[in-house]
Amino acid sequence: MAWYDGTENYTKEKLFKAYPKKICRGLFLSDDGKRLAIVNDFEENTPFYKASDPKREEDFSEKNVFYHVFAGEDGVKARAATEEFIKTADLKDSDSVLLLRKDPDRLFAYGNGHICLSLLEITAALADGVSDGSVFILPLMLYFHRCPVCGKRTLSERGMFEICAECGWEDEGIDGEDEEPVFAPNGDCTIREYRKKYFEFKAEDPLYSRWGDCLKRKKENKEKR
Ligand SMILES: [Zn+2]
Repeated sequence: MAWYDGTENYTKEKLFKAYPKKICRGLFLSDDGKRLAIVNDFEENTPFYKASDPKREEDFSEKNVFYHVFAGEDGVKARAATEEFIKTADLKDSDSVLLLRKDPDRLFAYGNGHICLSLLEITAALADGVSDGSVFILPLMLYFHRCPVCGKRTLSERGMFEICAECGWEDEGIDGEDEEPVFAPNGDCTIREYRKKYFEFKAEDPLYSRWGDCLKRKKENKEKR
């Protein structure tokens, strides 16, 4: 099974090598205790999975908050380890926190820095004590940028060739409606031309989204097999 960290496929072997200390399910530390990996591996369609899905809100807000929930014994362990981590790690180091998510959510590029920022913000919340000892909720935040084509907040960084989960535009960073693309990852389409195509798809199928479409096709292929 592979996870996705926004840039490449991540294997269990690679995870265990870089983060050999397993705190509990879903939480791993590097040997020096300065890097933390959070692995979203909840079963789909369970409450914890839904809470940990950064794209669960229909309309994207400025800050997209989601929650990684640790319960029972895991909750106690995760709380203690996270508190210790926040004390020892350099949270300004964008490699200090890594978030991995299982397929099929690979289109949501999880940059390290975003999670790092969120940890800075939750330090205060931790100090207040989040709920009782056995449930530990780690709030994480992703800051998305608007896609220049569809306007949805789907891009975690600009100009990094992320693919918009709504319209499928691959973002090389241009913003001008008729600007000539440099790398042209979307064929030779300008933003205006691509948007026209996107609206044509939408007109045919109001529920169309690039990501929804991928999932639908994946499911159909499975059923065929
Ligand atoms: Zn888009």
